Amino acid sequence: MLDNLKNSDAVLHKYIEEEMERQKSGIEMIASESFVPMEIMEIQGSILTNKTMEGFPGRRYHAGHEAIDKIETLGIERAKELYGADHANIQPHSGSQANQSVYAALIKPGDTILGMKLDHGGHLTHGSSVNFSGKIYNSVSYGLNSETETIDYDEIERLAKMHSPKIIIAGASSYPRFIDYERISKIAHEAGAYFLVDMAHVAGLVAAGVHPSPVPYADVVTGTTTKTLAGARGGFILCKNELARKIDSAVFPGVQGSMHMHIMGAKAFTFKRAGTKEYREIMEQVVKNAKALAKHLEGFGFRMVTGGTDNHLLLVDLRPKGLTGKQFDLALESAGITVNKNMIPNDPEKPMVTSGVRIGVTAMTIKGAKEEDMAEIAGLMNRVAENIDNEEAIKDVKEEAVKISSRFPLYKGML
Ligand SMILES: *Cc1c(COP(=O)(O)O)cnc(C)c1O
Repeated sequence: MLDNLKNSDAVLHKYIEEEMERQKSGIEMIASESFVPMEIMEIQGSILTNKTMEGFPGRRYHAGHEAIDKIETLGIERAKELYGADHANIQPHSGSQANQSVYAALIKPGDTILGMKLDHGGHLTHGSSVNFSGKIYNSVSYGLNSETETIDYDEIERLAKMHSPKIIIAGASSYPRFIDYERISKIAHEAGAYFLVDMAHVAGLVAAGVHPSPVPYADVVTGTTTKTLAGARGGFILCKNELARKIDSAVFPGVQGSMHMHIMGAKAFTFKRAGTKEYREIMEQVVKNAKALAKHLEGFGFRMVTGGTDNHLLLVDLRPKGLTGKQFDLALESAGITVNKNMIPNDPEKPMVTSGVRIGVTAMTIKGAKEEDMAEIAGLMNRVAENIDNEEAIKDVKEEAVKISSRFPLYKGML
């Protein structure tokens, strides 16, 4: 792989090799990451990238669309079948563009949206003031119940009655529990709002049936084919038939121009693979591994926000260990373990410091890690926590981390 690049751009080739080495030797535990199968890299690196195409199958603006129409239709049909959805749009370049398109389809600038607070686990595109969603729309947000640290459904209901939002958004980037989609759907529909579920993080778990599906309850569902779906780098939208035309025309020509055909091909493969038994078993193992990691970390005195996890990620409160998220994240990185610092509910620290870390198990599970490997990784994490300023100890942990990682070879024969 990359032989041509090696000859024509040695510097860039070297940097890619450097990243390859990091992916190979480290313990990857960032919750939004995963490793894609070789087919995804083949398709994303294929001649499909050469084709410019706008519109939808049967309604194109460029000639030469025969094969392209078949590919897009295949991807759409597979997405619909996988999730049991009426309609799918698989053109969004990312999860953020998917959300942008949904707002553009359903509401006007200045209309009110009600989403989860960013520092309680929501996403930038759910109305954050630094994001288009908080600038173009009037954003109101709900948070977590301070006792249970789970979504405060009563607060959603209260805010919905008070502000009459046009869209209520459920879905999160760092929330370790199932979400009661049925309950929020009732609140939304009583308030005359559309119900949007952004399942970016859990789309793979939903596809595999190990997480409740929002599709029966939501008017629109957005997702990414990265993260737990472990496929193409992009986004997609599912909706009821009544909204199909609005959603499609908001994506194109509303928000995007031409499609990324190499990514769309990879999405078609992603939706096929996510329906297989092999993939379902990986997702089942993801959930087992997350629970195992939570249990072992608790054994070392870390506190799990909400007391545990239902999905692929943990939110860990580091205060019982006397650490900040920033300290622990940096020390773990030196030890070859990548996580990210993350605000915990009612975090006393600033966003760049935080009291917590978010840990995800998708990537390592795809590599083949099981519960016993989680026990070992929790042990390494605890050694880092207990030796936060001890460079020697952290170096020792790194050696162990590389050993663990080498048990799970990545992309045999590449580079
Ligand atoms: C990651 C994420 C997105 C955005 O996806 P990108 O592809 O990074 O734009 C949207 N919503 C949620 C909840 C996410 O976690």
